[in-house]
Amino acid sequence: MSQKSPISSRIAQVEESATLAIDAKAKSLKASGVDVIGFGAGEPDFPTPEFIVEAAIKAAQDPKNHKYTPAIGLLELREAISLKTRRDSGLEFSPNQIIVTNGGKHAIFNTIMTLVDEGDEVLIPSPYWTTYPELVKLAGGVPVAVPTSIREGYKVTPQALEPYITERTKLFIHVSPSNPTGAVYSPEETFDLGRFLLDKGLWVMTDEIYEHLTYDEVKSTPILSSVPELTERTVIVNGVAKTYAMTGWRIGWMISPPQVHKAASNLQSQVTSNISNISQRAAVAALLADLSCLDEMRTAFDRRRKTMVAMLSEIDGFNTLEPEGAFYVFPDVSGVFGRSIGDTKVTSSMDLTEVILEQAEVAVVPGEAFGAPGHLRLSYALADSALVEGLERIQKLLQG
Ligand code: PMP
Repeated sequence: MSQKSPISSRIAQVEESATLAIDAKAKSLKASGVDVIGFGAGEPDFPTPEFIVEAAIKAAQDPKNHKYTPAIGLLELREAISLKTRRDSGLEFSPNQIIVTNGGKHAIFNTIMTLVDEGDEVLIPSPYWTTYPELVKLAGGVPVAVPTSIREGYKVTPQALEPYITERTKLFIHVSPSNPTGAVYSPEETFDLGRFLLDKGLWVMTDEIYEHLTYDEVKSTPILSSVPELTERTVIVNGVAKTYAMTGWRIGWMISPPQVHKAASNLQSQVTSNISNISQRAAVAALLADLSCLDEMRTAFDRRRKTMVAMLSEIDGFNTLEPEGAFYVFPDVSGVFGRSIGDTKVTSSMDLTEVILEQAEVAVVPGEAFGAPGHLRLSYALADSALVEGLERIQKLLQG
């Protein structure tokens, strides 16, 4: 009998999402009675604003939402996305260039599947969000990590990218603010990067999911506002998850040039059909409201960000850059390698993650998950008291 695996080689190479795995492990430890504090989650700890929930309740009661609707999304929502894109980014796109997807992640999937052919190379600045290279591999493409470090604030420059460009380079993935580093490209950096990508004739996928989560005076700069000439070769991906504390509602979108839009619409019509009408109606309410519902959440994140950076900076061997956006801190922890903590000699961030979980009952995500060994990612989207308690536990474990 053949020993061949029943799993296709294409799917077998896809790795489990490390962030979701850590989050699940922390939640199951918690359920079994262990007092785990989780810094793993990539989601706001706030409930969705009430007026958005109300819109969903109303939608659920209306029979017109009980039926199939267009695969690419309700016209009302695509119009709201078009208005929102003009309001927030100053960019004009027709609703006919927008596809509503099952979260930002699905928009990224559609984009990569539509643009990347067998053997195409995709440039991904690292540290990167764990999903990007996995989806590139799934499409048959080759993810090419372009390393950055704390010295450059975890941002790529044209000079850093140049040596990685080959005849097979098709796509560049841009995300600002970034997960996992919280780095935000300045207007000048965005312009230089955009001009370079234009000169090289590359396609760009710009992931704007954290656009509104920036702190102090920092603002995010949409790459197309900076270099509009890129419009013909750029796909914007975005969603309501992070801005409106709507991770569970699964609404994202992609905005793309007509040819890509048509191809991705065909894909979506075969794979998912329309996304839940109830969630789509809720997203219309979210996008048409002003952004004041974000203020409370952003103020809390900012306060926690400062506390976290201050407390991590007190740990000997941690090198922590203050992030300017998103809700993650990404300390370089290589300074503790070689030390023994309890019975364990720590030689990698994976080791350190395990020691912290076992001995301090705190869940963090190892940098390996983001192509950046030697780091940890901690989300500050959790209650202030839990955040301080969790960081005190880590401090005690590592100072003790
Ligand atoms: N892009 C980035 C950089 C993210 O961090 C996330 C969520 N972790 C997403 C996209 C996708 O968000 P969702 O699918 O929940 O809309």
